Amino acid sequence: MRKATEPTLVSIDGAGEGLTELRRSVGGAVLAPADAGFDAARRCFNALVARRPAVIVRCLDAGDVARAFDFAQARALEVAVRGGGHNPAGHCVCEGGLVIDLSLMRGVEVNGDARTACADGGATWLDFDAATQRFGLVTPGGVVGSTGVAGLTLGGGIGHLTAQHGLTCDNLVGAELVTPDGTVVSASPDENPELLWGLRGGGGNFGVATRLEFRLHPLRRVLGGRLSYAGTGVRDALRRFRDLAARAPRDLSCEAVLGLDEALAPTLTVAPCYTGPDGDPEELRALRTARGLAHDAVRAQSFLAQQHVFSPGYGVDRNYWKGHFVRQLPDELIDELLDRIVALGRPPGQVLIESLHGAPKDVDRASAALGFRDAAFNISVMAAWLDAALDEQSIEWARATAAALEPWSVSGGYMNYMQADEPIERVRAAFGDEAFERLQTLKQRYDPDNVLRRNQNIPPLR
Ligand SMILES: Cc1cc2nc3c(=O)[nH]c(=O)nc-3n(C[C@H](O)[C@H](O)[C@H](O)COP(=O)(O)OP(=O)(O)OC[C@H]3O[C@@H](n4cnc5c(N)ncnc54)[C@H](O)[C@@H]3O)c2cc1C
Repeated sequence: MRKATEPTLVSIDGAGEGLTELRRSVGGAVLAPADAGFDAARRCFNALVARRPAVIVRCLDAGDVARAFDFAQARALEVAVRGGGHNPAGHCVCEGGLVIDLSLMRGVEVNGDARTACADGGATWLDFDAATQRFGLVTPGGVVGSTGVAGLTLGGGIGHLTAQHGLTCDNLVGAELVTPDGTVVSASPDENPELLWGLRGGGGNFGVATRLEFRLHPLRRVLGGRLSYAGTGVRDALRRFRDLAARAPRDLSCEAVLGLDEALAPTLTVAPCYTGPDGDPEELRALRTARGLAHDAVRAQSFLAQQHVFSPGYGVDRNYWKGHFVRQLPDELIDELLDRIVALGRPPGQVLIESLHGAPKDVDRASAALGFRDAAFNISVMAAWLDAALDEQSIEWARATAAALEPWSVSGGYMNYMQADEPIERVRAAFGDEAFERLQTLKQRYDPDNVLRRNQNIPPLR
């Protein structure tokens, strides 16, 4: 453990003078509201969140992060941490506070022989996959390339290779953090292993991760893409998706998205990612021959192409997400989901169903803080809309739909998809009581003043 920097003597006589000193003391950039680029820098994925911080510090290294913490704490400014800016709760930005922005820290270093990669705290999955694919290696990440590696990993991480290689955090083997008092802490199986355990699911509660190290696996090509279904076959196709996941193929990850077409009828998109040797795998045949298949865009492609299967716009839609892990997906629940998507009454908006079969179940449960390994699926109700006049109605649809899933719920909701209004009981349920209290003990150790509270918060144990 070391200090990232000697304490900076930042003047606290007025914001202007302090800002000049802050600009001088950091290697990166400091953006105040009057600066060019400030408005773009404060935007987050969810257009429903439009906060205006007092200052954004674009850090270059751990020293800059420590100086930013110093500056904020000297002025009692709230702190937000920005990685890829994709958190649907808009946790990457705060009103009137200081944003520690890691978007200039995007390096990824690969050790092909050791099959490991180190990502800087602001790297995105596009940065990561581009670097590791040069070596024909991967780690299971998120399905949208612009999402932050750190943010996604610290909340768990579900994606195209979950069945094959587990959750993203299961592949996290080390990290370097700057805690709010400016201390640099390492976490690995040999050094602070309890912190490594907490980072596997506990979110950005303990410090700013400036470096994350991952285990890699060989992979270049996959059989992937999308299968689209429409009409009366949607129900049958969703059942086949469910049955496929129940057979738990280890070389096939799969997620499904229910939506609405312009005629307000349900549609289904299934995105498989098969990494086995077969050109026409038996596991996929039931899906590819299902009634209602409107378009089969599954093909052999590079892993990088697979990572472009979903590419939503950034900062365009207003979003409100709410969901549950479920133990199973029985026919009644499928019918409920179809009724609820019709009740939405207009596109866009969707229900995402991510299968958790395969490798996540193999992992020693004691290795990670997160607590949803018994779930069969993560179901996320994702209201998305453009017009502010639809705020109330859209949020209500997401809440009511999530409430309809509750009878099948297990392990609370997924931290990575939670909005800011989730009660602490839901955050606690995502871990279970015992793990939550262990996380609170870690929080007490690394962030006793709860400086990092703009997140799915784990308050320090008192
Ligand atoms: C379009 C889209 C696609 C997504 N796809 C997936 C997916 O496939 N699988 C999945 O599991 N999740 C997915 N997510 C959810 C995503 O993983 C989480 O919302 C995650 O928090 C986003 O991380 P970020 O760095 O991009 O976001 P940000 O909003 O920048 O950060 C969110 C929070 O993460 C923490 N954080 C970020 N970087 C650091 C760091 N370096 N050190 C410490 N804390 C940090 C902070 O608490 C921060 O407030 C998706 C979200 C969106 C909007």
